[in-house]
Amino acid sequence: MKILLTTLACLLMAAGAFAQEAAPTRVLITNVKIFDGKNDKLINGDVLVEGNLIAKVGRNIDASGATVVDGGGRTLLPGFIENHAHLMLPGPTLPAMEANSTWEDLAIHGAKMAEMYLMQGFTTVRDAGGANGGLRRAIDAGTITGPRHYASAAFLSTRGGHADFANYTAPVGQSSNFSRLNMAQEVDSVADVQKFGRNNFRMGATQLKFMQSGGVVSAFDPWQLVAGSPEEIAAAVQVANEYGSYVMAHSYRKEAIMNALNAGVKSIEHGFSFDCEIAKVMKKKGAYITTNLTAFDPGLLDIPAVKNVPASLAKAKSASATFAGYIDNMKKCPVKRGFQTDCVGSVEACNIQVAYEKHLNNQFFGPHQSLVTLTSTGGEIVAMSGDFTNPYPEAKLGVIEEGAYADILIVDGNPLEDFSVVGAGTKWFDAEPRPESPETIRVIMKDGKIYKNTL
Ligand SMILES: [Zn+2]
Repeated sequence: MKILLTTLACLLMAAGAFAQEAAPTRVLITNVKIFDGKNDKLINGDVLVEGNLIAKVGRNIDASGATVVDGGGRTLLPGFIENHAHLMLPGPTLPAMEANSTWEDLAIHGAKMAEMYLMQGFTTVRDAGGANGGLRRAIDAGTITGPRHYASAAFLSTRGGHADFANYTAPVGQSSNFSRLNMAQEVDSVADVQKFGRNNFRMGATQLKFMQSGGVVSAFDPWQLVAGSPEEIAAAVQVANEYGSYVMAHSYRKEAIMNALNAGVKSIEHGFSFDCEIAKVMKKKGAYITTNLTAFDPGLLDIPAVKNVPASLAKAKSASATFAGYIDNMKKCPVKRGFQTDCVGSVEACNIQVAYEKHLNNQFFGPHQSLVTLTSTGGEIVAMSGDFTNPYPEAKLGVIEEGAYADILIVDGNPLEDFSVVGAGTKWFDAEPRPESPETIRVIMKDGKIYKNTL
């Protein structure tokens, strides 16, 4: 016993000595023009990082002993935030993933996707279904390289809904590959929503994802589907609220969007039927929208998974006609809109799609709004996971201000004048393979740690 106590005392002393020595590292970034996540003007100044936080923003900062990084007059901005990715879904089709993916295939894909996102400048990713908390644990422990990760765990989807990955012949109630891995769960009652919603938080979810509409390339669901009763959606909101968090809902049709908002859903995903009436309700409820703008690209009808499947092509055509008003409505009645790519597929294909989604944002809404979407709005969205469920509760994300997390990019030139410098790509299906990291993104810092520096 005495030996044990002595050993413990030594350990405590050693820990104390270590704590004294390890003052937070200080990095002073000088000579940069700062986009703070919100303002449409760049500010000339310096940024002091202490440990994993931004300690000061301004001029003539006293930072004796700090490592100095000369930004050379380039632009410094917050790390980007992806609000709707599926890091664990390798594609190419839903049945293929359900039938032929083992957990190793999925985990390896997730690790590679995580690294791709970080090296494209995304320091935070919200996962919109499929990933549990394990990926975040591996990233945050430094075992693999990737962005901060907000998982939704299993999609919650009704029988035949948009996340019903089961085979055509699968009987009701039979467990699927994806249900066994807690990547998608069938919920057909309030009790199911409660059971699987709570299990999701237990598995490391930071918010819940409810599939409230159908889709275009999925097998059983018309895109116009209004899935989930008001009671079932309210049950998801209630479970999320137990954890101080919120629900994101995959909603296409106006009825679906309204049902979601009225039940207390805070994040409308896709929201293609968005109009000014919806905008009014969203503002009243403090809700956000994230939309994959590739849905408005004429090239959508040329995707092999759409073009070669008559049922999908018909669905895509009718959806495109209904969604035609989105861009104009968003300009007329703007609401808080987060960046989303929603790529399911190979790492190389998703790299291209992410770059193209950046480009479409700029094309439809201009550089300033696109940068706000990519940074501060995304930070507000992920913070809705709440004080005790948010894995990163210490500081703000998506802004350059004192006290915020030190998630920082330095890019060549001025993205408000030339949006290509943030790694936007002008082509989708006929694009060349993209570099591992855009040349114009010179520095990538996450949580105070530098992952790329080519200055
Ligand atoms: Zn999605």
